Amino acid sequence: MPWACQNDGMVSLLADSLSKSYSTPDSELDVLVDVSLSLAASENLAILGPSGSGKSTLLAILGTLDQPSSGTLKIGDADPFQLPEPQLAEFRSRQIGFIFQDHHLLPQCTVLENVLVPFLASGSAGAVEIDEATQLIGRVGLADRLLHRPAQLSGGEKQRVAIARALVRKPILVLADEPTGNLDSRTAEEVSRLLLELQVEQESMLVAVTHSQQLADSMQRRLHLDNGQLVEHV
Ligand code: ADP
Ligand code: MG
Repeated sequence: MPWACQNDGMVSLLADSLSKSYSTPDSELDVLVDVSLSLAASENLAILGPSGSGKSTLLAILGTLDQPSSGTLKIGDADPFQLPEPQLAEFRSRQIGFIFQDHHLLPQCTVLENVLVPFLASGSAGAVEIDEATQLIGRVGLADRLLHRPAQLSGGEKQRVAIARALVRKPILVLADEPTGNLDSRTAEEVSRLLLELQVEQESMLVAVTHSQQLADSMQRRLHLDNGQLVEHV
């Protein structure tokens, strides 16, 4: 499997001159213009910027959910956009974890089943996977909620489940799109702290789009996206 990457401290992310344009009948919209960024293994990065500045578009490309109009992306040793679709899907489910503003949990499934979802993309979940998921659910403070369904959880608890789901396969890259955007400030702070603790423990890379200064300030680097271009803030 030439595209498999180990989380051995050597992996990194390199985005080079990513551009994304959308054509509409009367105009061409340049959402991202020559965006380049690199991330060392285990590093975390906040992306800030006004609504409509292309933050979610950039995250979707870094997550290989969307193709850039031009530019290249390397994640670990992989050049994901060169992979045929089935291998790209396997790479994505194995190596990338996603957390959205809205938890995106499956309403009909329990907490445990939701956290097992990433394993199902590569086959079935057996005793080992159930044990790993159960441990991580305990780590996010929900050991006594294993069989609850999302509707029976608070907003903060749902985001904790979403974090566990994103991290359960120990991906090398975690992408979070306004992960605390729907939470009150105290819950947002707790969820942010948990996300960063787990990212450090698992030594994954984390890119988080956020409007929360508190979350951005607790991350190692901050980039600002404006008019499709990235500027690094110190
Ligand atoms: P942000 O996450 O920073 O709020 P987005 O990345 O969601 O911004 O969107 C950036 C811009 O790209 C917006 O003007 C949006 O309307 C436009 N856009 C996003 N997706 C599409 C699409 N599929 N087709 C056309 N325009 C799009
Ligand atoms: Mg967005």
